[in-house]
Amino acid sequence: MLTPLKDKSVLITGGTAGIGLGLARAFARAGARVAISGRSRDKLDAALARLRAEGLSAAGHVADVGRPEDVARLLSETARNGLDVLCCNAGVFPSAPLESMSAEEWDQVQHTNVRGNFLCVQAALPYLRQAEYGRVILTSSITGPVTGYAGWSHYGASKAAQLGFMRSAALELARDEITINAVLPGNVLTEGLRELGEDYLDKMAAAVPLRQLGSVDDIANAALFFASKEAGFITGQTLIVDGGQVLPESLDALAG
Ligand code: NAP
Repeated sequence: MLTPLKDKSVLITGGTAGIGLGLARAFARAGARVAISGRSRDKLDAALARLRAEGLSAAGHVADVGRPEDVARLLSETARNGLDVLCCNAGVFPSAPLESMSAEEWDQVQHTNVRGNFLCVQAALPYLRQAEYGRVILTSSITGPVTGYAGWSHYGASKAAQLGFMRSAALELARDEITINAVLPGNVLTEGLRELGEDYLDKMAAAVPLRQLGSVDDIANAALFFASKEAGFITGQTLIVDGGQVLPESLDALAG
């Protein structure tokens, strides 16, 4: 039994859709005070309305995680009454072949997925230091840290970079008893994943030993654990949540 997160303050970047919205729902159900952010005002309003319709409340803020001025405003608005948990979840995964990828396409992915983590963790530090126990949870991926996928060299690099960032940050944050860990989702059915098309979804579901795509709740359950008081001796670590997708050595192994 984990200590309840009642009244803990949680900020979830990219909380307006997909995994982030699932995190918002799970933390709100656990009794936490939740704030979500994203770049689009329309998506933010729709997400807040969805949560309200489910009897859950959250605050919402428009902010691009790769822009220092947005991040400073986001933290000052959401954390002025305290911040216990920061979920760095905002991420983008456009596809582009390496041969024709522009430097701008490369930078756009690093802007959100890597720079966004750095800026948010740095801006959250003064607030997390004041918490009873501060927690940072990164949403990384199996793609990059463990696996590869054609068209995602920029994305894979960004998701592996998150872990390099995390391991050094863990040592600096440990002085203040703040932990930082990463969840590595496999293929989780979200708005963003659906945009990759039915063919992609079918192929991925077939590659998962547990024979289905993940749900946002699967990722949220791992994040709730990392956020708990009981996970306080775990830092700089990764947890793969992928239905076993990275396990098979061959298609034969999958069939068995
Ligand atoms: P999604 O459905 O496309 O949602 C992405 C969220 O991030 C949205 O709220 C989006 O809102 C926000 N966002 C994107 N760029 C942003 C920026 N620069 N600043 C602030 N917010 C931004 O994606 P998802 O599938 O839930 O993925 C969420 C995270 O999980 C990502 O880090 C992704 O790499 C990771 N992940 C997903 C899967 C999967 O199977 N779905 C697998 C492995 C890892 P706006 O567009 O309004 O900004």
